[in-house]
Amino acid sequence: MIDVTIAGGGPTGLMLACELRLHGVHVVVLEKETEPTPNVRALGLHVRSIEVMDQRGLLQRFLANGQRYPLGGFFPGIDKPPPDRLDTAHAYVLGIPQPVTDRLLAEHAAELDTDIRRGCELVGLSQDDHGVTAELADGGQLCSRYLVGCDGGRSTVRKLLGVGFPGEPSRNDTLLGEMEVAASPETVAAVVAEVRRTQLRFGLGPIGSGVYRVVVPAEAVAEDRSAPPTLEEFKQQLHVFAGTDFGVHSPRWLSRFGDAIRQAERYRVGRVLLAGDAAHVHPPVGGQGLNLGIQDAFNLGWKLAAQLRGWAPEGLLDSYHTERHPVADDVLNSTRARMELLSTEPGPLAVRRLLAELMDFDEVNRYLIEKNTGIAIRYDFGGEHDLLGRRLRDVGLKRGRLYGLMHGGRGLLLDQTGRLSVEGWADRIDHVVDVSEELDVPAVLLRPDGHVAWVGDDQRELRDKLPRWFGAAAG
Ligand SMILES: Cc1cc2nc3c(=O)[nH]c(=O)nc-3n(C[C@H](O)[C@H](O)[C@H](O)COP(=O)(O)OP(=O)(O)OC[C@H]3O[C@@H](n4cnc5c(N)ncnc54)[C@H](O)[C@@H]3O)c2cc1C
Repeated sequence: MIDVTIAGGGPTGLMLACELRLHGVHVVVLEKETEPTPNVRALGLHVRSIEVMDQRGLLQRFLANGQRYPLGGFFPGIDKPPPDRLDTAHAYVLGIPQPVTDRLLAEHAAELDTDIRRGCELVGLSQDDHGVTAELADGGQLCSRYLVGCDGGRSTVRKLLGVGFPGEPSRNDTLLGEMEVAASPETVAAVVAEVRRTQLRFGLGPIGSGVYRVVVPAEAVAEDRSAPPTLEEFKQQLHVFAGTDFGVHSPRWLSRFGDAIRQAERYRVGRVLLAGDAAHVHPPVGGQGLNLGIQDAFNLGWKLAAQLRGWAPEGLLDSYHTERHPVADDVLNSTRARMELLSTEPGPLAVRRLLAELMDFDEVNRYLIEKNTGIAIRYDFGGEHDLLGRRLRDVGLKRGRLYGLMHGGRGLLLDQTGRLSVEGWADRIDHVVDVSEELDVPAVLLRPDGHVAWVGDDQRELRDKLPRWFGAAAG
């Protein structure tokens, strides 16, 4: 039987497939579209996602296909430089269009021999104690031990499970597309600057070869957002906001998006789980959705693999919901706040001015940047040490770099004492004896997602802690 069916071959589904394949899990990805979409939604990766790529040996290919930008500018209209010495080796935003991210993840999944079936739509599912049966649009069936819905904001899996998706409906739609423009670059820049004084959801940005990325508020909320708008709609709305349509023509692609904010009540129902946009949706301001989805997959992958391999301790798979639900809840809240700051009404303007003043305090600026980049995330593992529950930044070792040792997706004991042992768990955890000038603790135990599960130098204490994350010792 197949181990895991993943419904949806977007960034979340592909990242999850890669994580599972690292552990030899038999995965099938079902993707309803026959071809990848050219539509560019996400424009970049934040620090934690960049670190995730580094931890799996994918960073070089992402850097080669993207562009580094300085951190900051996460709050509309507030332009503050980032604080010094951020706790990461990657203090930048990596600009990379979503179709490129999707392609790089698909290539990696293919290298790991993932079975990706395009043109394959899941339309039904049922589960019992032994497995899940997916019904396909072509009348076929697929049985697997687990199924993960990574099928986007309108998730069929979530609906079939009957999981609640409370929140706020879309109140404003925005048109987004790429097209050529007849007006001169100077005219475009001047008009856009003027319009943006009162409308921050408006923009025409050149992306090369005379093509512009055009963003303009739609006339109304669409009944069916999956139906693309027409060029005429763009022209009409450009006229409404700018008094000109800039002579737009020859569109590459046209789309629309809304500003609904919703989160699934449960990320797991029996043998079926939800991840990425299937579990949470929010407006794109702040650029968080794809990053959240990739990090959901990074949290879930090793846990699901452990469950399938039979060594997962009680509660490990459920910790996916416990850990990731609050993270998305926090992102939804920050995004909601950002949406308010897009307004040029007197109230939001006053809040923006106050926030800008507060961000002059290094501590406030640091707090907000660490939140936006995902490096502040701390799961509740209990215990007092400040590193517990946080991801450990990449640190230099005498023989290489920490993240360079994590490509296989296993646990890792970084032991600066040389006196510790993971005997009994060596099939799940790498024991690295080395030292780092950047780490002032004797030893750290890292989960496969790089979060710190234990800090100390006492072998007995370590043996007591290992089963919580890595199950019982092998025979
Ligand atoms: C305008 C815009 C700008 C954005 N900018 C950013 C940004 O800068 N940074 C950021 O992090 N995020 C951004 N986002 C959000 C980001 O695009 C999404 O969060 C991300 O695509 C979610 O990935 P996913 O894999 O969970 O879902 P999706 O990308 O939606 O992928 C779901 C996949 O499932 C497939 N599918 C659906 N139903 C089925 C089915 N029944 N059977 C089989 N396959 C199915 C779909 O075809 C699709 O390929 C933006 C979004 C928009 C709209």
